[in-house]
Amino acid sequence: MSASSLMSMVRRYWRVDYDQPELLIAQYRAFSGKMPMMYLILLINSWALAQTYYPLAPYWLSLYFPAMLTVLCVTRLTFWWRGRLVDPTPGMAANALKRTSFLAAPIALSFSLWSVMLFPYGDSYAQAHVAFYMGITVICCIFCLMYLRSAALSVALIVNGIFTVFFLSTHIPTFVAAALNVVLVTIGMLAIVNSHYSDFVRLIDAQVKTTLLGNENLRLANLDSLTQIPNRRKFFAQLNEICTRATASGQRFAVAILDLDGFKAVNDLYGHTHGDQLLVEVGQRLTAVCQDDHFHLARLGGDEFSIIIDADLSDEALQQFGGRICDALRRPFVLYKATVQIAASVGVATFPDMAVDASSLYEHADYALYQGKRERRGTVTLFSEKDKAQIQRNANIEQALRLADFDRELSVFFQPIVRLEDCQPIAFEALARWHSAVKGTVAPMEFIPAAERMGIINQLSVILLKKALQAAATWPPDIRLSFNLSANDINTSEGMAQIVQVITHSGMCPSRLDLEITETAVLQDLEKSSQLVSTLRQLGCGITLDDFGTGYASLSHLHALPLTRIKIDKSFVADIEHNAVSHKIVKSLLALTHDMQLACVVEGVETPAHLQSLRELGALYGQGYLFSVPLAAGQVQAWMEARQAGSLQREPSLR
Ligand code: C2E
Ligand code: CA
Ligand code: CA
Repeated sequence: MSASSLMSMVRRYWRVDYDQPELLIAQYRAFSGKMPMMYLILLINSWALAQTYYPLAPYWLSLYFPAMLTVLCVTRLTFWWRGRLVDPTPGMAANALKRTSFLAAPIALSFSLWSVMLFPYGDSYAQAHVAFYMGITVICCIFCLMYLRSAALSVALIVNGIFTVFFLSTHIPTFVAAALNVVLVTIGMLAIVNSHYSDFVRLIDAQVKTTLLGNENLRLANLDSLTQIPNRRKFFAQLNEICTRATASGQRFAVAILDLDGFKAVNDLYGHTHGDQLLVEVGQRLTAVCQDDHFHLARLGGDEFSIIIDADLSDEALQQFGGRICDALRRPFVLYKATVQIAASVGVATFPDMAVDASSLYEHADYALYQGKRERRGTVTLFSEKDKAQIQRNANIEQALRLADFDRELSVFFQPIVRLEDCQPIAFEALARWHSAVKGTVAPMEFIPAAERMGIINQLSVILLKKALQAAATWPPDIRLSFNLSANDINTSEGMAQIVQVITHSGMCPSRLDLEITETAVLQDLEKSSQLVSTLRQLGCGITLDDFGTGYASLSHLHALPLTRIKIDKSFVADIEHNAVSHKIVKSLLALTHDMQLACVVEGVETPAHLQSLRELGALYGQGYLFSVPLAAGQVQAWMEARQAGSLQREPSLR
């Protein structure tokens, strides 16, 4: 080994690795546990030796000198004892270790010289005590200093060097043997210290790597892999955190949830690559809008995004912020093969006025979004007191539904569908009525959606259909029955199987039955519902698309369904004689159904003027208060008889 490589090895062994902050902190922690013990043992051993030499040596050597060293040791002991409670910074740890490394040599030197200076004053026993003191104390010190190799090396070499040189020079065989022993022990101990220190460094290194890996995993677990913005998991963690803080401070904040209108069409039309590209760009535009530190953006999944607005913004400011989002997403997106335009609907709920915990805040923002999507797509909707009351009402209805005896409380009313030419009935639409023992009469617009939410609508449909079929069995055979199916009936195989079973067991010819479905119900799962609705069509039932014109079905959707009839929604008829647009819409819808060779019923015929306009437009069938309100089963016969008599005058009577 050359002199320079030996030097570099020595330098390496004496170096303190100040550039590894984690190692410094680990060394500091290990030290603060061991150093007080080391100083304590050193002091006890030293005072034991001082005690042996007290009657033999002068006071300055047996009393004052050890007393001076004790002051130094106690200072260091106190420092490390306090250090146990400290959470060190790397800088602090580096300073403490530097100091220890620096002090190790002079302290070791002082104690060693002190003990060899005592040696000449003692008899053989006392001299043996010096040898024992030096040999045993240094072992303890080296073990305690293991975590700082430079200090352990200094102490080992100084103490054992002095020991060896001094005792070899005594020429007393016992001490010479002891000196040689000490050389061997020193070599062994240095090897142990070295390997232990290397293991320690490796362990800390591994810990650092594991922590880094853990942090990276955590980062990835909280990130949406497609858009590289925080994901659903991060959103809820952050929402809970902010909620806890805001609960304590009473600070107002808001959650916005947004959903893309038209994303599905892009996905269907151009494929998933384009859908993914669109989502990435949406993520980028949203990130640009949410630059402020108070905005926390996340992708919840699919085309749903969320923003926590961790600032006390007024309702107007929230509206404006939502407006900025809608504007940003309304601008065209240039994708690989197409330029597309979409819109975003935003629902916002505020804490603590509209919700006081994370989950209801999220649910209320989602509720506002859902309401917004139904009524005003592409805009911002703030969750309001009105929504709060509606949610309470829904909860009451759901509670009443849980307690209801459906067989007894549900009934079916029938509203005639007439030929507009002579106002004679061709069919009756069955409309559900619920007289709850708890809440009295509840409108179907309230309890049908509630039953859908609770997943019990199928049970209701079965009871209602049975009752409707029973009543229809008493009507003339040319009068048809229309029955409304809900989303769940046409989207699940089990639901459909039950409906089919009721129809086949009723004894009524399925071709006398029309089943009404809505666009919204169909669009929940177009493929599944068109497949299930086809089984009804194959059975011979007619299929009517209800509320036509209010949904967002494209003509291609219409084509996918085995429809026989369409019902034009009552909203178009309400002002047909004054509103040119309504007039035109009804006109084109009639033309469309005619071209598609579908029968068409117009809903909401309330006045003779409506009737007149519709007749002029060539509509064939209608339904509405002008002909009759929904009738109880027992009133249908009488109504038909009266209508037959009235037909002679060829004019409908109101109600
Ligand atoms: P819908 O299927 O569009 O039924 C027509 C609704 O319009 C009925 O309200 C009916 O009473 C009302 N109506 C009839 N003529 C007129 C009119 O001239 N002007 C106006 N403004 N309204 C008229 P209803 O009975 O309150 O039912 C509301 C909705 O509840 C129904 O709308 C349907 O979506 C749902 N529904 C009713 N019964 C059932 C049922 O048995 N099953 C399912 N799934 N849904 C039902
Ligand atoms: Ca209907
Ligand atoms: Ca309708």
